[in-house]
Amino acid sequence: MPHSCDLGSLDRRDFLVLIAAGVVAAVSGCKKAPTGPVASADPLVPRIGGSASTTSTTVPPPLPPIPRAQPGRAVVVSHAPYDTQQIAFTIDDGYCDECVAGYVDFAERTGFNLTLSPNGAFHDIWDTYADRLQPLIRRGQVQIGNHTWSHPNLLMLSDSAIRREIERNEDWIQATFGVTGRPWFRPPYGKRNSHTDGVAAGLGYTKILMWNASLGDAVLETSDGLLGQAEKWIKAGAIVLGHANHPTVIHVFDELQAIIAERGLEPVTLDMMFGTTRAYG
Ligand SMILES: [Zn+2]
Repeated sequence: MPHSCDLGSLDRRDFLVLIAAGVVAAVSGCKKAPTGPVASADPLVPRIGGSASTTSTTVPPPLPPIPRAQPGRAVVVSHAPYDTQQIAFTIDDGYCDECVAGYVDFAERTGFNLTLSPNGAFHDIWDTYADRLQPLIRRGQVQIGNHTWSHPNLLMLSDSAIRREIERNEDWIQATFGVTGRPWFRPPYGKRNSHTDGVAAGLGYTKILMWNASLGDAVLETSDGLLGQAEKWIKAGAIVLGHANHPTVIHVFDELQAIIAERGLEPVTLDMMFGTTRAYG
């Protein structure tokens, strides 16, 4: 399986020191990815998505009230639940302003469906784009998941510390984007076990989000390197891991879309792929 976040070479202390020093953003780049329409599979809740249009002038529907957390059994997910031509681009972290801007531009320009899992530790960057993301979220073209506040290795934390990380990020997601990230939780670095899964699920984060495809941009790579990873991994039913941490990806969106089109794949959000919805959480 391809591996995870760009921050994987840092331990938690290093990472927090870098955040405090503003070094993480300064030494890295990043951009964003595609999105699309979202629909609810739950007959009891309204659709919150619709077909994305790059030039849509229609007013997106209002966001549903944020539902209560619904604790349950954790399910680990790494690919589509059925044979499908769908793929889900899931973009994490976001410590590169240029990268977050690039993903927002791309989503607005193309209507590409995206699932973003930002860390609130980088809120200075994400908050800048909240107003532009808002209509995309309301249309269901962009979905927000939870990736913890400060990107720690959960295997090194107490249960109460894990809960604080998840809840702080959830509070920020709600305040910033007007939706819950539930039930989608991506463990930083992909580091998890059944115990950490259970802690997250106890907060209503019952979908533990892993992946079976990667753009390889957890580390800085060349455009050719990234596209090589895309050629290798982007297949029907894939959950694709990417990062808004290095700008390489924002310069190859056209090439990524060409690969997707050649293979007859349909980019969707996790809500679309799994029938979850922000109205249900
Ligand atoms: Zn990450």
